[in-house]
Formats: sequence, structure tokens, C-alpha cells
Amino acid sequence: MSKSAKYIFVTGGVASSLGKGIISASLAKLLQARGYSVTIQKLDPYLNIDPGTLNPYEHGECYVTEDGAETDLDLGHYERFLNIPTSQANNVTTGRIYQSVISKERKGEYLGKTVQVIPHITNEIKDHIQILGNKGEYDFVITEIGGTVGDIESLPFIEAIRQLKWEQHEEVLFIHLTLIPYLAASEELKTKPTQHSVKTLLEYGVQPDILVCRTEHSLNKDIRTKIARFCNVELSSVIESIDADTIYDVPLLMQEEKLDEVVLKHLKMPLNSNTDLNKWKEFLHHHKNPKQEVEIGLVGKYVELKDSYKSISEAFIHAGAAKECKVNLKWIASDDLTADNIEAELKGLSGVLVAPGFGTRGIEGKIEAVKYARENKIPFLGICLGMQCAVIEFARNVLQLEDAHTVEIKRSALNPVIAMMEEQKNISDMGGTMRLGAYPCTIKEGTKAFDVYHNTQVSERHRHRFEFNNKYLKDFESNGMQASGINPENELVEIVEIDAHPWFVGVQFHPEYKSTVINPHPLFLGFVGAAVNH
Ligand code: GLN
Repeated sequence: MSKSAKYIFVTGGVASSLGKGIISASLAKLLQARGYSVTIQKLDPYLNIDPGTLNPYEHGECYVTEDGAETDLDLGHYERFLNIPTSQANNVTTGRIYQSVISKERKGEYLGKTVQVIPHITNEIKDHIQILGNKGEYDFVITEIGGTVGDIESLPFIEAIRQLKWEQHEEVLFIHLTLIPYLAASEELKTKPTQHSVKTLLEYGVQPDILVCRTEHSLNKDIRTKIARFCNVELSSVIESIDADTIYDVPLLMQEEKLDEVVLKHLKMPLNSNTDLNKWKEFLHHHKNPKQEVEIGLVGKYVELKDSYKSISEAFIHAGAAKECKVNLKWIASDDLTADNIEAELKGLSGVLVAPGFGTRGIEGKIEAVKYARENKIPFLGICLGMQCAVIEFARNVLQLEDAHTVEIKRSALNPVIAMMEEQKNISDMGGTMRLGAYPCTIKEGTKAFDVYHNTQVSERHRHRFEFNNKYLKDFESNGMQASGINPENELVEIVEIDAHPWFVGVQFHPEYKSTVINPHPLFLGFVGAAVNH
């Protein structure tokens, strides 16, 4: 039966980085646990069409969906919490909205009219919000508005949601996430910034229904009453969101604060019974009570900004909990690694992961890390560029092809063991043109890859332009590195592994994007298992 969706909008006030994504995902989790179908969408106010062309220093990790959209890292949280895939429709930027309006203008769709922010841009925003709701699949569409209320950039989004509320009053709910700062000198929690941020929303015509208040200290009844009174919300709609040990605590904290109940009451939806958080609680229990610990090195060039590898670090949390093992990550800057210091940096680790990436910086350090893990039989996982580095290292040091390289970095390499994919050769635009999204992979039986997947047919997500050069495959295989996973349609090598090594696997795809709390990824389970055995 087709469902008509309710729309919940989450705005942020006072400061950025308060965790709108986690609050949205936590609310979605609680509604899902009550039997509702929920999806979450992120609206980003910047002008890039998508974050695919952004440096991780600007925006953290770029998360890739099944359908090949390059998106905001919050979509990773949505998938990890809800265990259901997102798509292109779940992330919309101002750039995409304008691109769509301008292309309609050129086609003559607004012929005779002046094209304006209101109504054309705001209508386009409303259409993009409703794409998910109109599918008839969801009871709730939660839409997180990027940025902080008061930003010039996000004004058209706020105007669009104001109009939606006006048009569909009963179907729309506003949640405002705000900060209650604590002044240590006077030992006081302050509500004024929240009052101001709600006033700014009111100027735009938006009255929040629920306030979620980030705080370092518990909010007592007096503070809650004050916030409720000054911001025109009911006392029960002032929700405390106290700092948590882990983001995975937040759904349970929100449940204690009855966020889900308050939302359902506002939207006049039945509460249903609340049953299905058992697996979540089991995961949290294992996560917080590990029986052992391992240290794994994460070698990458953006290690000072840990958000650049968000899905990888979360995948270790999921796999670690399943193995009742705490994975401590040692963040290692690949730029700094040389043959002289590699031993000092990697000695004693139970596993080495070489991260995805682009470009020249840090590549030789990554290759050194591969060599150390291979020679010292330390469990190794190479992801995307990390797999390509494993191939280059093997070519240079085992096959003795001294100048082996990837053409991404050395076009003139005599031994281009990593080459540009054929379909990439005539592409000049940078945005959205890589090999993106889910493709099938056939796994050979009797390999380490098969050991972890227990399956010969899998599907994984991709984001790359370069690939293993099949001209060299025979040479690699006869020297001990085999292709254990291959794309059945075009023979592209998806997985390489070394037979005579306890656990050495390189994957062209990104397993980290598919790891969730409920379904830890098999490769991360296998890798953590190997690290425990090491
Ligand atoms: N730069 C490499 C490529 O484009 C690897 C990409 C990645 O690690 N995501 O093929």
C-alpha cells in the first residue's frame, strides 16, 4: 500500500557541528524501531553540485551510495544507523538546485517569466524534498538542513520548509537543534543563544515544534521551563541531548528523553509498541565491554582530520563489537613514512590498513607501509588506492619491475601496473565522472576473500578512475599474488591477495561504505579476526 509521508525538518542553531546528522539518524532509528519506514535526507547549502570534487579538508569523507552518488558523510551515518541504503535523492545541494532551475530555464520551461529565488528556487527545493515522500514507501522523511540558522546561504531552504508547513500543516514538523553553553566561571547553563536562534527562525516564519538542546550538563526543570517559555514550545518538547561516550548511545538517550513519542504525538501518529532495539543494545554492550584490544595502523594522507576516514573508523567499531574486540586505530601520516622510520612506526601493530586517496602526496609512504606489512606478515587491508599501492609494491619488490607505478602519478611509467580504465580516457570533466557506485564481483572459491564472504557473488561500491592492468595478471599470479575477485562483465580486478601471507587483501572497491551496526562488513570482520590472531 502506498504511504503518505510526514516530513520532519531538522535545523541547527547557535553553532555548527552540533550533530544534526546523529540526532536525525537517532530519531529515525527510534521511529524504525516502532515499525515505521523512515528515510533521511540532507540539504547542503553550498554551490558544488555534490561533495565529490571537495578536498576532505573541506568536508570530511565523500560517501558513495549504491546508485553512485557522491554525497555528504552524514548519509553514511544514516545508513549505519538504519541499515537501509540511501540514494542520490537523499543529498541535495544548492548547486544541484540551481543547475536544475537554470537548465529548465534554457529549455524554455519558464518561458516569458522572470526566474527568481522565490518561487523558482524554493519550488525546486520543495520538489526535491518531496521526491522521497512521493515514492509511497516512507512513513517519515527526515530532512536535515545543513549550516546554521542565520546563514545567508541556507535562507532559500528555510523559506521552502516554511512554505511546506503552510501548505501541509498536519504533515510537517520542525525540530531545532541548539546549544546550551555552560559557563564554568559562574557554573551556569545559558539559554540566551538558543532564544536568539529561535528568534531568528521566527523572523523567517518558522516556529520550531521541538527543541533538542545539546549540553555538557543535565538541564533541570527550571532551565527547561525557561527555554519552553521563551521559545514557545511545550515543556515536553524541550529535549536534552547530553554529550555521549559514543554516537551509538544517542538513540537510547533520545529514547529516554522521549523524542520519538513527542514527535509522534505532534504528528498525530500512533505510538505503536517499541520493541526492536535489542540488536542495537547487544552491539552497544559488546562495543563497551570488549574482551581484548588490538592496535591497527591506518595509513593515509588526511589523518589529522579523522572525518576524512569516517566510514573506515566506524566499520572498525562495527566489526570490533562483533568480535568483542576493541580496535585502537593508530593514525599514521603517509607523507612522513620512509624506509628509515617504517619499522619504528609500524612495529608491534596487529594490522595495517592503507587508505583510499588521490594524487602524489604520501604515495611512497603508503608503498613502504605495504612492504613492511607484506614482509613481516602483518595482516593487511588495502582499500582502493591502498590496493593499488599493494599492486605497485608487489610489482617493484617481488616481480622486480623497478619503475612499476600507477599512471595516475607517473604517466610515462615503463610498467604501468595500475592503468586508466578504458571508459575514463575521454573524460575531461572532474565532477561525477569516476566509476561510481555498486558493481558485481565474482569471488574465487578457496581464497581468503571467499573465506570472509562465504559467497561467490557480491556487490560493492566504487569510486575510482584507475584499475589493475590485466597485462600483468599472469606474472602476478605465478609469483603469489592472485586476483580473487573479478568483475564478471569486464574482467576488472576487484580483489588481490597474497597466498603465502596470513591475511593480505587489497580491494579496488570501498567495503567501508556498506558496514552498518547490524551488518558489520565481512572484510572488516575478517581483517579484525586476522589482527586478533596475529
Ligand atoms: N586515485 C585512485 C583512482 O582513482 C584511487 C581512488 C580511491 O582510492 N578512491 O583509481
